[in-house]
Amino acid sequence: MTRLEDLTAKQKYAFNKLQKRLRRCAGKAIDDFNMIEHGDKVMVCLSGGKDSYAMLDILRYLQKVAPIQFELVAVNLDQKQPGFPAHVLPAYLDSQGVDYKIVTEDTYSIVKEKIPEGKTTCSLCSRLRRGILYRTATELGATKIALGHHRDDMLETLFLNMFYGGKLKSMPPKLVSDDGKQMVIRPLAYCAEKDLERYAELMEFPIIPCNLCGSQENLQRKVIKQMLQQWDKQYPGRIENMARALQSVTPSHLADPALFNFADLKTQEHPFEDGDIGFDQPDIRPPQNPADIDEEQIVQIVQLS
Ligand code: SF4
Repeated sequence: MTRLEDLTAKQKYAFNKLQKRLRRCAGKAIDDFNMIEHGDKVMVCLSGGKDSYAMLDILRYLQKVAPIQFELVAVNLDQKQPGFPAHVLPAYLDSQGVDYKIVTEDTYSIVKEKIPEGKTTCSLCSRLRRGILYRTATELGATKIALGHHRDDMLETLFLNMFYGGKLKSMPPKLVSDDGKQMVIRPLAYCAEKDLERYAELMEFPIIPCNLCGSQENLQRKVIKQMLQQWDKQYPGRIENMARALQSVTPSHLADPALFNFADLKTQEHPFEDGDIGFDQPDIRPPQNPADIDEEQIVQIVQLS
């Protein structure tokens, strides 16, 4: 593992670029979707994984430099999984001077009791976790709940829904909770997982492994992740293009009558904005090698939407 203090000058320069890129991508996503407003109290959900540590770190930086004022409170849910190192997060948060709350609820026992051995426990577990987090946000008076999902999570979800759910649907950067009462935000929506991974390693965040519950990782998600990683190696720029596609949707060129009124489509004398380009070539842009994309270009990419 490379440590920050062991970096050469060149590596340090690369680290600064990486940090800047992550901060700018998060800042851009927050701005584009109006995720955080003046006076907000943002509850930052901290699982102990790389993404949520990075999210907290980036939000703390943005809090210092943003022209608006907002509060941050970190929340971790101790689900009483066997071997959960309960001291790790409080020690880290104390060392950083972060306001936090640890919520302890034994969802592990509930899940074990309700779900037959060998069946996947994730869906009940996350439903319980979601309910507890929403309740905690209300208790804390939080106006936003920040989750650490990133660009690659969003793409994986898109393909999962297409391949296994028959739906063109991903993970939105901002949404209202199912009980209608909470606003959920994903400030890392533009951040690449590999950047977050590298950042977490260099920042030496005290990562808590996510497999303590003993549940098998969702196999379908694993397959999609491998597919995307393979594409990323084989076809540089494809991931960036797909992420861009999430922000550039043409309902008149899909096939959902609920999104576009195909039934009442009429011909007209003058040119039609959503006209038939069915025989045109797809709008193909040359792929770009991610290694060649600097932070300015990443910001431009997200601005192209
Ligand atoms: S991996 Fe374990 S802790 Fe995570 S959602 Fe699934 S059951 Fe819950």
